[in-house]
Amino acid sequence: MEAMVLGGTNNTFEVESQDGMVRLCSIKGKILRESEGYYNPLAPGDRVSVEVDEHDPKRGQIINLLPRKNHFVRWNQKGKSPQLLASNLDLAVVVTTPAEPPFRPRFVDRALIQADAERIEPLILLNKSDLPQDPDLEERMEDWKRLGYEIIRVSAHTGDGLDVLAARLEGRLSAFVGQSGVGKSSLLNALDTRLSLRTAGLSAKYGRGTHTTTRGMLFHLPPGESGKSASIIDTPGVRRFVLHGIEARDLALYFREMEALVGTCSWGHSCTHEHEPGCKILEAVYAGVIHEQRYESWQRIRDELETGRWTD
Ligand code: GDP
Repeated sequence: MEAMVLGGTNNTFEVESQDGMVRLCSIKGKILRESEGYYNPLAPGDRVSVEVDEHDPKRGQIINLLPRKNHFVRWNQKGKSPQLLASNLDLAVVVTTPAEPPFRPRFVDRALIQADAERIEPLILLNKSDLPQDPDLEERMEDWKRLGYEIIRVSAHTGDGLDVLAARLEGRLSAFVGQSGVGKSSLLNALDTRLSLRTAGLSAKYGRGTHTTTRGMLFHLPPGESGKSASIIDTPGVRRFVLHGIEARDLALYFREMEALVGTCSWGHSCTHEHEPGCKILEAVYAGVIHEQRYESWQRIRDELETGRWTD
């Protein structure tokens, strides 16, 4: 039978079949070749084939992984291989804040680029909109908007903007990604009061189930006005977002404002966009068409992809 992974550890997963039944399943044998090279074999959102246990209908075995439409990964701080955070997403919700933790535009850039590279629709969610916003944040928000990124401002505390967010999530599978403390659990609690997830980054964050702060979990919200429910994956807080599966020399193609310029450089694809006279990307930076901080993001990520050393 076909089913979807909600969450789990490396060997036991909560898996939901289409009739809504949730079973605890283990993986049968070494069948998940597609997941080789990742720290964890399966992520919330993965679609799998399950064989139900003959003796216990609440248990089963995962016998196959169905092809992934896309996936979101983070660098695993302990291991060397990337950790799968979520699969088969319709929407990547990049949660950020004006403060507490401080606004980190480079983190947002990295998450947006991964979403674009994986062909997942990105959405910037500015939580804690009840806190004062500084001019730097407003400037970057304007720039992302100009580049076509959608932005929703909310406050899990005051409830501002939650109706807009809820409507946007309906009928979709989304993942909330962001640093620890940006309010991912508070937002889920505000969207669905039945959840009562623990907040404020406590070490034992979720009071139930087999998941912990280091793994994600998929939740279904009650159906909204459209009659469709939203499915949301709460991912573990990401301290460093490391891009995976992108070559340094192709990075500019993933920056929306650089993509079209790359081919027009007089130096063609061999241009480093660092010093070449007539480089269209440098000209656009000088003209203010590419925001200086976006160019810096590009430089930083390119260096990281080249050296394998991650600085931020
Ligand atoms: P997570 O680690 O991303 O899941 O973040 P939490 O949901 O645990 O929230 C971290 C802290 O931010 C908690 O102290 C929350 O009360 C606080 N917080 C969450 N949302 C808001 C908000 O909209 N406004 C303000 N001022 N604080 C918030």
